[in-house]
This record gives sequence, structure tokens and C-alpha cells, in this order.
Amino acid sequence: MFLTFLGGAGTVTGSKTLVEAGAPGAEQRLLVDCGLFQGPREVRSRNWETFPIRPDSLSSVILTHAHLDHCGYLPALVREGFTGPVYCSPNTAELVPIILRDSAKLQEEDTAWARKKGFSRHAEPRALYDATDAERAIELLTPVEFGVDFAPIPSIRARLAPAGHILGSSTITLTDLTRDRSVVFSGDLGRGNHPLLRAPEPPIDADAVVVESTYGNRDHGDVQAEIDEMADVISRTLHRGGTVVIPAFAVDRTEVLLAALRRLQDQQRIPVVPISADSPMALAGLRVYLRAIHDDDPELLTSVKVEGTDVIDLPNLSEATTREQSMALDVGGPHIIISASGMASGGRVTHHLKWALPDRHNSVLLVGYQAVGTPGRMLLDGAHELKIHGQYVPVRAEIAQIDAFSVHADADELVDWLAATRQRPQQVFLNHGEPDAAQVLAAKIRDRLDVAVVVAQAGERVRI
Ligand SMILES: [Zn+2]
Repeated sequence: MFLTFLGGAGTVTGSKTLVEAGAPGAEQRLLVDCGLFQGPREVRSRNWETFPIRPDSLSSVILTHAHLDHCGYLPALVREGFTGPVYCSPNTAELVPIILRDSAKLQEEDTAWARKKGFSRHAEPRALYDATDAERAIELLTPVEFGVDFAPIPSIRARLAPAGHILGSSTITLTDLTRDRSVVFSGDLGRGNHPLLRAPEPPIDADAVVVESTYGNRDHGDVQAEIDEMADVISRTLHRGGTVVIPAFAVDRTEVLLAALRRLQDQQRIPVVPISADSPMALAGLRVYLRAIHDDDPELLTSVKVEGTDVIDLPNLSEATTREQSMALDVGGPHIIISASGMASGGRVTHHLKWALPDRHNSVLLVGYQAVGTPGRMLLDGAHELKIHGQYVPVRAEIAQIDAFSVHADADELVDWLAATRQRPQQVFLNHGEPDAAQVLAAKIRDRLDVAVVVAQAGERVRI
């Protein structure tokens, strides 16, 4: 069995690993994850490169989870000729359509904008993919239950196990039946303390492991201290009559935030005020989580099953679906607005910030990682003015950041997960991380486990 790292190597987006197995000369191919490159223009431009193999030579795709950097290239692959099944867990199969439809809309909007402004390098700019491509990709989704064997290509047996990162997230074990060799893909691995989901299952013993290294050089802080800080910021803002604006990443982040707000309200640590969720995609995701809780989904913590849907279905929560409803939220007074995008780099939250930042009664609560160059990072770094829609606004609102809601395992958690194998893998490949983070994690793994650890290089082909 051979692996080729087509994406995710040396970067945290665009995850795609080609797997080839079978008799020499008659190898069959599948792809593990099919993610979109995101971020700076030079990274995004990789989405436009010719796919390194013919998409119609792939028999199937297996997805670890529904985040865009793991599934967002699928419609492009379909546009270029892929027609095989896309295997994933049942909850992933519910979340992927939400993500792909939203992505297709953004791709089309970006192209329309480029055409209007004439700044595309192409004479007639076209979208990477459109809504039709997204629908064709969605039709290929083939749900498989956790723990049940399936054959993505005839010589390979595959099995999914819960990864505890977002609802539906999976680790994937592939076994080459002709050579009795196996590899585990961690996908994005969750933490042991997700407020809704069970911890990831320990990896099945395998000859090789491909592990994500997003937070390979990070140690998450004390979650309780972070939640306490969040309670303090929200409480003092609401008591002084201000609005709290929370730029939040869409799928899973919204649910995790709502669960925290619900628990703080129940403990009377924050006042009960109107909470507005302002992101159509986040709300569609919320409905999938509510259904899972309602159905006692095995991915959920027992405590969440006891709490029931109330844990994220707050009585004081209202939804803003239309643009008009979104605009109508900026009225002032004690109120919590949760809106995308998470780093305030675009989307509806920019309008709320333009309105909220000049007033010192308000606060902006940044949740999680803020990349360099994003408005979220500028606010954190103490910017006195922020340019929004071409116009500078003064920053007088209180700015706070909490890091309690990361749904990525940190360095020690990743090593603990690897150490849980009874039989050490011979090779560990680090994927899906910035080079620095991957090197730090590689050193940690070598220190604790006696295995060969390699940082995956883009385009490199390895034998398992
Ligand atoms: Zn993810």
C-alpha cells in the first residue's frame, strides 16, 4: 500500500492523501479526505492547480469529517470527472451538504465580485465550482456506521471510529488485505474534554499512523480558568448595558459556545439576556446537533443525553436568518450576538463590529486562534482603529479572547493518543500542520515513543 500526501502537508488546509493498493500494474486508488486549501492567496491558488492524477481513476473517497479543509474540494473533484462513492460517518453525511452548499455560494459570490470589479487575472473569471457541482458531490455521499467494515477498493478493508473533534468526525483504519499491512488516519483529533462529544477512541494497532499536527506546538490552557474569564467579560458587559459580539467559527463552535452559555446561565453566573445566532450555516449545523441529541447519538457524552436538547436549545436564543434580521440586531443594550466568521475576516460579523466597536459599553469576545493579518488578530494586538468595508472605525469596546473552545487535541494529547496503541506503529507521518508545529510534535513523539516520525512533504509517496 502506498500513500501520497497531496494536500495538508506543510499547511493546515487542503487535506488529501492518495492511497494506492492492489497487484502491481493494476493498482486501485482512493483518496482520504478531499479538502479545500484556505487562507492566503498563494495557498488558495493551489485549489486551481491541475489535480495530480485523473479524478476518474479514483475508485472512492473517504472523509474524516465535515470541515471545509477536509471536504471542500469534493465538488471540484466531481467537476473534473470523479463519480465514485464518498464514504463517511452518518453525521458527517448530514453536515457535509451544509458546508458544500455554503462553499459553492461563496465561490460563486467571489467570482461575481471579481467579474464586477475586473480584478481577476482571468478574462472571464469562473468559480472553482458552483451549486450544481456541490449537489452532484452531495449525491455521492455514502454513510457507513462506526465499527463496521467496508471495502473502498477491493483489496482494502476500511473502518471508522469516533474522533471526538466535531459531530461525525472519524479516524480511519485501512488494511491492505493482500499484504496484511494497515494504516490509521487520525483526521482532526478532538480533545478529551469536548463539552458535548465523547473523547476519541484509542487508535487501533497499525503499521503506520498519519496524525494531524495543527496544534503540535501548543498546549491548551486551563479550560476552567478560560470559562471563568468568559463569564466575567460577559457579565460585566451586560451589567454596564453593553452588547457582547462573539465572532464564532460555524460548525461545532456555535454548539460548544451555546452549551457554555447555557451552563453559565443555569449557574446564574451571567444574566439571562437575548442571544442571537446570526449565521445561516451555523444554524443548519445546530439542527443536526439537536437531532443527534434527540436521537441519543452514541457520539455524545452521557451527561449531554441526560441534559437533553436544552443544553444547546436555549429559550432566550433567537435566529437571524435573513440579512435584514441580521442588521436589526445592532440596537444596543444587554444582548449577545454570535456571528461568523471566527477571525472577523468577513461575513455578517463585520457589520456588527462596525457598529459595536466605537462604544465602550460593548465587548468583543474572540474565541480561539486568530491568524496574523486578520481583523481578530489586530483587535487582540490592541489596534486603536480597525478598517471595515474601507472605512476606519475607532476601537473603544472591550476586547477579550478565550481559548477554551479548541476542538483540536494539543501536543500532549496527540502523543497520549498515539501512546495508547499496544503495539507501536513502525512509521508515524505528521500531516495537516504548519512546519514549525509539525517539527515540535515530531520531537515530542520521538522522545516518548521509539518510532520513526516523519513530517509529510507535499507530493511525497511512501510505502506502508
Ligand atoms: Zn476539523
